[in-house]
Amino acid sequence: MSSRCCLLALLIAGATLFSAAPASDSPGSFLDIGERMESFDCAPVVSEGGQAWVAFLALTRIDSYRELGADGEEGENAADHAEPVEAEGADTATVDDTAETLASPDEVQPEAVAETGRSEAVELKLVRPSLMPRRNLPLDFLLGGKHYQLRRDKDDEICLISADGTRLGSQAIVRARRIYLAEDTLHKLGIRLSYAPATSNFRLVGGLVSLRYDEGKKTLVCSTLLPTRAYAERVANDTFRVVFASGFVGKSEERQVDSLGNTRLTMSNLPGDRVELRFVQEEATGYKLYAEPKPETFFKLHLANHFSLVEYRETASGEISVDVEFSRATEVKTMFLTSPPRLVLDFEGTIYDEATKRIPVDIGRVREIRVGQFQSQPPTVRVVVETKQRLNYRILKEGAGERYFIQFYRGELRGGAVLLDPGHGGSDTGAIGVSGAYEKSITIAIAKSVASKLKRMGYRVYFTRSDDRFISLGERADYANRLLPAIFVSIHANWLDNAEFSGVMTFHFPGSVPGQTLAAMIQRHTVNTTGAVDRGVRTANFFVLRETMVPAVLIETGFISNAAEELKLRDPIYQSRVAQGIADGINEYFRTVGGFF
Ligand SMILES: [Zn+2]
Repeated sequence: MSSRCCLLALLIAGATLFSAAPASDSPGSFLDIGERMESFDCAPVVSEGGQAWVAFLALTRIDSYRELGADGEEGENAADHAEPVEAEGADTATVDDTAETLASPDEVQPEAVAETGRSEAVELKLVRPSLMPRRNLPLDFLLGGKHYQLRRDKDDEICLISADGTRLGSQAIVRARRIYLAEDTLHKLGIRLSYAPATSNFRLVGGLVSLRYDEGKKTLVCSTLLPTRAYAERVANDTFRVVFASGFVGKSEERQVDSLGNTRLTMSNLPGDRVELRFVQEEATGYKLYAEPKPETFFKLHLANHFSLVEYRETASGEISVDVEFSRATEVKTMFLTSPPRLVLDFEGTIYDEATKRIPVDIGRVREIRVGQFQSQPPTVRVVVETKQRLNYRILKEGAGERYFIQFYRGELRGGAVLLDPGHGGSDTGAIGVSGAYEKSITIAIAKSVASKLKRMGYRVYFTRSDDRFISLGERADYANRLLPAIFVSIHANWLDNAEFSGVMTFHFPGSVPGQTLAAMIQRHTVNTTGAVDRGVRTANFFVLRETMVPAVLIETGFISNAAEELKLRDPIYQSRVAQGIADGINEYFRTVGGFF
């Protein structure tokens, strides 16, 4: 069966909020240099008249561009030669009558551009005709949100003018359809030329131009003059940093951001023309970095735990999966409510950037997903999945809870139905205690006692076996998956070589949120009613936990390898205490998590 897939581009797409903002005063008539500069990692440089000139713009496919020849005379109209430029060999394809200039011995790195795949990609971008400057100078452009103009002065030299009319640069020169700016002119634009001995390349490095903190969204927005890459990493418990692969700040600076768990923010230059933002926090908040896709000059750093709905989809087996993600691990609380039937998930300590959203889904028996900031103190994101009827579901988490998968099955959840699974049976005795007790006999005795207590509380109880017979693990899981009870509880007794060892432990499948909740409740109540040693809640890849689709746990009620505990486990009064703990745990689960219809 093919799966329908509905992708929601949320946070990542959200980054485009920032795009093109500076162009408001004259849309369409400016080049945005951020996207158009020829190359950052590998800038062609020529040396002429005693100074270095750095390629700043490639002027491929300009219809009526007139270049200034080396002798000061106007050269031919480049349009006479204009050819569509192919991606490969773009550098040589653009060389026409000014090729001599490029090939001059003064040139520092003539081959560099052609050799670099990245530069070719940039050059390919430059041949989109609609984006080319079509006219002769003057040429208006934007850089870092500021307006500049390249134009010829009365001496016919190309000069760089800022928005207020100040002449910034000495001159620019045009060679082989590139505009080269003098190095000191670049400085005035906030750009440095950096030489990397390792690759023998020159590259352009742009300054960090702004840093703005949005208190409501707990988001720091950084912008850089030139596109770059950045990453975030934790370097100590209370410290993380963002490193920009290329950039600089004028001077190192320290700021205090009190609202963010007393965060101290330090900006500094790193070797290799990189910038570091270092965050030292009294109370760690977590973080996540997003870059605007293109050009990468805007970065958003989420300093709180931000929620994002990644996608919802119908899986190949017909289940509906709703995938959500956080910038750091979080816990979830769930409730299944009726009229209309809906699963409610609360993620405490998390922030949703957008207004409350209703997403009509209408796949399978899922009708709608609603996402919103349920409350602000403590910040809690609530996700509601409304279904057409009571559905069976499970919640899996990835890692420590950075990502959750909320999965709905085709079958309908049997409200208040508990499937008890007494371990072993028939030819399979299970463990045999030090004085000869069979595990299979203890497990069924406890299971029957749990059943009578649960029935008195109003639950519907089912057994995988109700007498002494052998059933395979596969049959147990199959029965659970056909019956679809609200929960599956497997009951066992333990055996260990160490005869001193005793106590109760409860297992759930790793990542199963309802399983973990149920296991914790059963464990706590059983330790209470029996006074046994608390061996805790654990995860295990047991067959019956892994293969059952419903929330499932397995309780080890005690160690029959321990003589004293074996004696207790054979005693109907003690069995009844164990059963009371299990039933109380189940009852607490239904009352807090839901599922009792
Ligand atoms: Zn067992």
